[in-house]
Amino acid sequence: MVDRETKLCISIATKASNFGASMHNAGYASLDLNYVYLPVATTDTHGAVVAMRALNIRGMSVSVPHKQTIMPMLDEVDEIAREIGAVNTVINEDGRLVGRNYDWIGVVKALEEVTTIKGKTVALLGAGGAARAIVYGLRKAGALVDVYNRDQSRGRQLVEALGGNFKGALTDARSLQCDVLINATSVGSQTKEMPLPPECIPEQCIVMDIVPLPVQTEFIKAAKSKGCTTVAGVRMLVHQASRQFEDYTGSKASIEVMEKALMKAIENS
Ligand code: NDP
Repeated sequence: MVDRETKLCISIATKASNFGASMHNAGYASLDLNYVYLPVATTDTHGAVVAMRALNIRGMSVSVPHKQTIMPMLDEVDEIAREIGAVNTVINEDGRLVGRNYDWIGVVKALEEVTTIKGKTVALLGAGGAARAIVYGLRKAGALVDVYNRDQSRGRQLVEALGGNFKGALTDARSLQCDVLINATSVGSQTKEMPLPPECIPEQCIVMDIVPLPVQTEFIKAAKSKGCTTVAGVRMLVHQASRQFEDYTGSKASIEVMEKALMKAIENS
């Protein structure tokens, strides 16, 4: 039941997605919390921040194109989000809007389901906002990170800011020597494209694709056919949502409940 005590959380993105709403609302229902989560499509970052203050919205999940533009509009951006250079979560702490970034937690937890990260060599494809969070998280967890990106100046800027080694363009990732290979480009999102030709995927490697849809990207399929252990982007999505959930509600929902709801939303999308 929704009433005047109900706490509202929202997501903002150019295109409203049901994925966050499915996970958060399933979590609220499982714990009988008087919360509701609504996906909102908007390109008006400032308007969303004003609304959050005026309507006392408790939590806001932030996606493209708001992740950087929102930063100067908040009362505080925590140190990690400042270092990554992007916010994906805003918490309303009694009228004070605090920006955080949990994408890095999502990738670390997703990889920790299949391996230990400390001491591993990771080849990372991409240098966008998500790749920045991944470099932060993996280096914090003790990995050595080699970055490849189409736009080489962007790749260099990433390692200058966050560490790791810049190794060149995607076309330079031909004979990779790594324990873990991660696609953090948007290549393969709703298409059959791959960021690397299949012959460049090393055998015996863990391969993660952070592209959430399709769940089984062509990259993941190619890695599976070479016998690699694979990690789908939805694992990262669930773990970062779980961390947001804790901030919004002060409670911890079961990962299985949130994942089940996400997979159902994906099936229906
Ligand atoms: P950005 O726009 O910040 O970065 C896009 C990245 O993809 C850049 O490295 C860009 O390279 C590269 N890229 C785009 N098109 C091509 C192409 N045709 N060939 C080669 N490289 C290309 O996006 P984000 O970092 O925010 O997101 C990247 C992906 O990660 C998206 O698919 C997004 O949905 C997903 N994501 C998943 C999350 C999860 O929890 N699973 C969380 C966040 C994002 P260049 O710099 O050369 O343009």
